[in-house]
Amino acid sequence: MSLVERWQQSMMNNYGTPAIGLVKGEGAVLTAEDGREYVDFLGGIAVNALGHAHPAVVAAVTSQIQQLGHVSNLYISEPPVALADLLLALAGRSGRVLFTNSGAEANEAAFKLSRLTGRTHVVATEGAFHGRTMGALALTGQPSKSEPFQPLPAEVTHVPFGDVAALAAAVSDRTAMVILEPIQGENGVVVPPPGYLAAAREITAASGALLALDEVQTGIGRTGHWFHHQSEGVEPDIVTLAKGLGGGLPLGACIGFGRAADLFTPGAHGTTFGGNPVSCAAGLAVIRTIASEGLLDHVKRVGEQLRRGIEGHPLVKEVRGAGLLLGIVFHEPVSADVAAKLRDAGFLVNPAKPNVIRLAPPLIISSDQADALIAALDGIR
Ligand code: PMP
Repeated sequence: MSLVERWQQSMMNNYGTPAIGLVKGEGAVLTAEDGREYVDFLGGIAVNALGHAHPAVVAAVTSQIQQLGHVSNLYISEPPVALADLLLALAGRSGRVLFTNSGAEANEAAFKLSRLTGRTHVVATEGAFHGRTMGALALTGQPSKSEPFQPLPAEVTHVPFGDVAALAAAVSDRTAMVILEPIQGENGVVVPPPGYLAAAREITAASGALLALDEVQTGIGRTGHWFHHQSEGVEPDIVTLAKGLGGGLPLGACIGFGRAADLFTPGAHGTTFGGNPVSCAAGLAVIRTIASEGLLDHVKRVGEQLRRGIEGHPLVKEVRGAGLLLGIVFHEPVSADVAAKLRDAGFLVNPAKPNVIRLAPPLIISSDQADALIAALDGIR
C-alpha cells in the first residue's frame, strides 16, 4: 500500500487527499516514495528556510537533544534565552519574547495579551489568515473557514485589507489591537499599498490600540528582511512569528515591544513546549545561517530573477509579493491545472487561489533551480 492509501485509512481528512507521499528531503529537493524527485517551491508552506536536512540545523538539533531535550517552564535553558536575545537584536528594539509551538498559538498569545490592556475590541482584515484555533480563527478574515465554528470570540471587526480609511473608521478608543499581515500570504500573496503599515501605526498610536503584525509567513528572511515591516520602517507593538523560524521544527514566537512586553504576568498564559530547547536550537541555527551565508541578499536576488522570468508569460497577469514570497496571478482560474503540470515536470508549487500560484521555496533555492522553474512554466501555455 502506498503512503497515500495508508493515510486514507488512518488519518482525518482535513486537508483533502495528499498528492504525493514523500520520503526524503535534501536542500530544495524532495524525493517521493516512487523515487521521483521534485524541486520544492513550496518549502513546507514558507517553513523550510534552509531547505531540508541543512547540516547546521541537523547538527544543532542533534547536539541539543543529546545535551538537554526538554525542560518545564518552571526552569530555563540556554537556547530560548539566546534565541530571544537574537530576535530582539534583529528587531533592534527592546522587548520580550514568548515562545509557542505554531503560528496560531503565537496569534492566540497576541490576542490574549491585547485583552490585558483592559480593552476588548479587535480590528483584523478581510482575507487575513491567522490560524485555525478558535481565537486565531476569529481574527482570520475568511468566512468559509470560520462559519462552521461559530460562535467565535466576539468583538472582532474585519475591514478591507489595504484600505486606510476603513481602518481609521473601525478603530476607536475601545480597540485593544489591530492585527495585520504585512503581506497576506494564504490569501494569494496580497500586497497592501505603500504606506499602509505606517498609516496603521499612526491610527493605532492615536487611539491607544496595540499594533500586532503577523509575520508568521513574511518573517525571518522570507521577503529579504529579518522582519518584513523593517522594509517599511514601522515599529509594531507585537510581532508574531512561526513557520521559517524553526527551520522545520515546530516553533513560534510572540514578541512584545514597549508596553506590550510586560502585559503577561506570572500565571497569565503558558504552553508546555513553548521555548523547547531543541526547537530553539534549530531557530538559532536558522538565523545564524541566514546571516553567515548572506541569505537575505540571496532571497532578494533570486526573488527578482523569478519575478522577471515569470512576468511576460502569456497566461500571467502579474507577479506580486516580495523576496521569495511570490504570487503568480493568472488571467484565468488555471492555477490548479498549472500546478499539476508543474508537478508532472518535477516542481512543487501551491495553487493558493483559483487564479494564483504561491511560491515560497526554501531561502537557499539556487539561481539554477529558479531558472529551471521559469523554463518549465514557459513550456505550459
Ligand atoms: N499566520 C499566518 C500569516 C499564516 O500564514 C499561518 C499559516 N499559514 C498562520 C498564522 C498559522 O500558523 P500555524 O499553521 O503554524 O498555526
